[in-house]
Amino acid sequence: MATASDKITRTRRVDNAKQDSDGIVSVTRTCHILASRERPCCWSRRRWLATTALAAAVLPRGSRAQATSEPAEDPLIWDGHCHLSSMPGRSPREKMKALIAVADRFGIQRLVCFMGWPFAVDPTPDELRRQNEQVAEAISAAPERALGYVYVNPRHVDASLAEIDRWIGNGPMVGVKLWVAVRCRDGRLDPIVDRVAHYDGVIFQHTWIKTGGNLSGESTPDDLVALARRHPQARFICGHAGGNWELGIRAVRPQANISVELAGSEPTRGFTEMAVRELGAERVIYGSDAAGRSFASQLAKVIDAPLSRQQRRAILRGNLRRMLADILRRREPKPERP
Ligand SMILES: [Zn+2]
Repeated sequence: MATASDKITRTRRVDNAKQDSDGIVSVTRTCHILASRERPCCWSRRRWLATTALAAAVLPRGSRAQATSEPAEDPLIWDGHCHLSSMPGRSPREKMKALIAVADRFGIQRLVCFMGWPFAVDPTPDELRRQNEQVAEAISAAPERALGYVYVNPRHVDASLAEIDRWIGNGPMVGVKLWVAVRCRDGRLDPIVDRVAHYDGVIFQHTWIKTGGNLSGESTPDDLVALARRHPQARFICGHAGGNWELGIRAVRPQANISVELAGSEPTRGFTEMAVRELGAERVIYGSDAAGRSFASQLAKVIDAPLSRQQRRAILRGNLRRMLADILRRREPKPERP
């Protein structure tokens, strides 16, 4: 396992936020790759797609025969971590349309969105309601493509429970997003987790281990382990795998009801590989943190990792779909009685 300092000295930075030769804007902002790799890092989008498992799903029909890797039935992708805030558009619907237009370039079939705009680190009950309404409106514009988590704040337990009942109990949302208002080992999380578990939703908790120190209400993966131990029946997602993922992955390893998600950090080689090795592919979930991060840079963590086809499918779609299977099944329209 390379140390952090090894990585710094062995990586090179590539800025490629520019138009490629096809005239298509490359949405990769910054790409860190190991210098030991032989292949060039600044590929055109077409070349990148043609050598990945995405190719069959993404390339136009006429191009599929050129795909060099996996066959045409390879799965599309669910992205478990998207935001509307920095997408262009004046309304939730316009922002969702813009997000889907970019997602379509990458074969991303489903987008889980949460939090409206502007970002609020300690939202009031009114702000929670307003932002959840924004997300609900965005989802309603693309119900076949978008899913949502309810934004809640454990400083306002009653308001959070009301939002959960409103949006998960009645649909269409399928989980909650907890950000940085309260460290999640706090007892105020307990009624929120119980209510979400009652509806078979998932609990998505932002986590980070910041070298300079976390925000006062910002959770680490250790905080999430403490919470998940108290709720063995609930399903947790450790957002960002703790940011400092080498520590975060190890922290959650013993707690089987926590999965890690890969979003929101540099596309460093070794991240997905370590998560799979330590947790098993079934506990690793792809997410991008778009539009704060690009789909391309975040997908690269999975596409470029030496995984089996089965593992890649699980991370890109299967694991999240399985976690949400119960709640989504209940949302399906009931057959009419004769
Ligand atoms: Zn995010």
